[in-house]
Amino acid sequence: MEALRPDLSDAEFVAAMPKVELHVHIEGTLEPATLFDLAEANGIALPYDSPDGVLEFQTSQKTAGTENLTNFLNCLDISRGVLRTADDYRRMTLDFLRRCRAEGVRHVEVMFDPQQAIRQGVPFGDCMEGITQGRAEGRRDHGVRSEWIMCFQRDHPADEAYALIAEADPFRTEIVGIGVDNFETPGFPAHFQPTYDRARERGYRLTAHCDVNQPDSRQHIRACIEDLGVERIDHGLNTVDDPALIDLVFERDIALTGCPTFYAGQESAPIERLDMIRALLDSGIRISLNTDDPAQFGSGWINNTLVAAMQSAPFSRAEIVRFMQHGIDSAWIDDDYRLELTAELDAFIHGG
Ligand SMILES: [Zn+2]
Repeated sequence: MEALRPDLSDAEFVAAMPKVELHVHIEGTLEPATLFDLAEANGIALPYDSPDGVLEFQTSQKTAGTENLTNFLNCLDISRGVLRTADDYRRMTLDFLRRCRAEGVRHVEVMFDPQQAIRQGVPFGDCMEGITQGRAEGRRDHGVRSEWIMCFQRDHPADEAYALIAEADPFRTEIVGIGVDNFETPGFPAHFQPTYDRARERGYRLTAHCDVNQPDSRQHIRACIEDLGVERIDHGLNTVDDPALIDLVFERDIALTGCPTFYAGQESAPIERLDMIRALLDSGIRISLNTDDPAQFGSGWINNTLVAAMQSAPFSRAEIVRFMQHGIDSAWIDDDYRLELTAELDAFIHGG
């Protein structure tokens, strides 16, 4: 079969495709130059000599084995530690939405960690004000629509998460859903049951990270679906290890968000994870491809991520389009907008 759009190279094909992204952490979009600017403005010392030193240091932290996620999150902590004011959040948000426009992203669903902001002395309201303003400016100046997902950190008390659900009431229209991220702690879904129940009562959409190859990965995925009632799982690749779990994901129409270059950044055998993504796609599960933390560990922005996945898996152009359609189908948007995005993707495939 002839490849789609033979007039374009792989990189041109991906760049020109209208895109959505569903799994990206705003704190992971801080680029080294901005990191240095904010650190200087806020009087914070960084453990790097220059912006180039950031990636160099992060690359030195890539190791095989179980320490990968720990090293990754420690590096991310250094980066997100420079955010100290509402305007820092506004600037980071606007910078990211400008980048989305350059990458051809039409719609993005972005995660943010309010507990991180609070620990750094940024009140929740200031963090929300900064994001809200950046979001509106990004829509106005760059035409990128964004929805925001409030993520709680699993290695911090679940009581904090529970309290934040009520604290977020004044910003209800700015936040589409909730999730959990950071270190995957043992039995985490049970700790967050009251938080998810409270969020569901308020009409939030629900997702949760289930990282790859963690202790009890499969049990966590099952508990997130059956007990927390999530509609999406961020990563969740270990679904593929268990036919009963594959059935459950189908039955409940759960979407997965995979992040191929993020896995490559963390460990020495990323191919195994691409194989898991391939098997999930082939099974018919609604999995999309995303960046996670594009400015960390050299993960790269969405176009780079899609080209890397396409060439190393490998995935055909038709399969990359399928991943993108899965993203559109899993987005927390209304049906008119979903049809509009689908039509745009369709027109692109047919040379429009
Ligand atoms: Zn993530």
